[in-house]
Amino acid sequence: MKRRNFLKDASLLSIAVASGTTLVSACKTDEAASTKKAIPKPILPLAITTWRYPNATKKAWEILEAGGSSLDAVEQGCMVEEADVKNTSVGKGGNPDRDGNVTLDASIMNKDGNYGAVVYLQNITHAISVARKVMEDTPHVLMAGKGAEQFALSKGFKSEQLLTDSTKKAWEKWKKTSKYKPIINIENHDTIGMLAIDKNGDISGACSTSGLAYKMAGRVGDSPIIGSGLFIDNSIGGATATGMGEEVLKTVGSFLIVELMRQGKSPQEACKEAIERIVNSNPNYKHFQVGYIAVNKQGEVGSYSIHEHFSYQLYQNNENKNVKSPFFLKRG
Ligand code: ASP
Repeated sequence: MKRRNFLKDASLLSIAVASGTTLVSACKTDEAASTKKAIPKPILPLAITTWRYPNATKKAWEILEAGGSSLDAVEQGCMVEEADVKNTSVGKGGNPDRDGNVTLDASIMNKDGNYGAVVYLQNITHAISVARKVMEDTPHVLMAGKGAEQFALSKGFKSEQLLTDSTKKAWEKWKKTSKYKPIINIENHDTIGMLAIDKNGDISGACSTSGLAYKMAGRVGDSPIIGSGLFIDNSIGGATATGMGEEVLKTVGSFLIVELMRQGKSPQEACKEAIERIVNSNPNYKHFQVGYIAVNKQGEVGSYSIHEHFSYQLYQNNENKNVKSPFFLKRG
């Protein structure tokens, strides 16, 4: 030890002794202070979605602010977009498959690790609520097609035509060339993935989509699949996805993000690593988009995407804002 440092340490020791503390207790106090600093008090509640969905986060926020559960918040937040016929990627007004059928995928997960999902659901606008019913009213987690539809009808859901005049017109135009590449337009797709933390600090998530426009009949994406389009571990955090579902499925993206957070990564770092996992295993990555959002138990949020133009909507601290996501591929 250098003399100067020794003298400095010796003088600290004399101060500590004079003030009646020992160095050991002084160190302990320091340690406690730095531990405290490392875990800031979460700013709760919060609701976050993929893309620009101020109405959905507003709905969720109202529920959270009134002391409601994160589960109610994510369900009702997603319902806003499912009912919006102008949103051509979710619920009523969603783009159909190549045969002209609108088929919905949705999933929901609560603080207790329970999960419910529907795939290939037709004629029911609020797929997210059917997913919740699967979770709460059946011994199953995933229901598909006709069976899911019958189940929904038995629970009082209304049968509706989900194809609107404008999505029908667009599909008819598409049919003239029938060009189909399972490539998601980088700037234009809108699966809603939502995560919320309520005033109790409990985390839930939900995800709802009509999937890829003009997909092959029967195609199912990542959104309803546990661990891919959505995953929650209430002791760690949650994550949800949008974009090319096949790539999210192959890398079990949302589960991966939660596990990376469990290992100590921030939501931001975890989302970035999950995107890198896709990029590193698929040389075609320049042609499709994937975006993730995540929250941790401390109320920190993160996001990352392959391409620019992905954003998330965050309602926290009385502010409803849209935030540009960092992205992997710098163009030009
Ligand atoms: N992830 C959705 C799917 O693959 C699509 C999307 O986010 O636009 O079905």
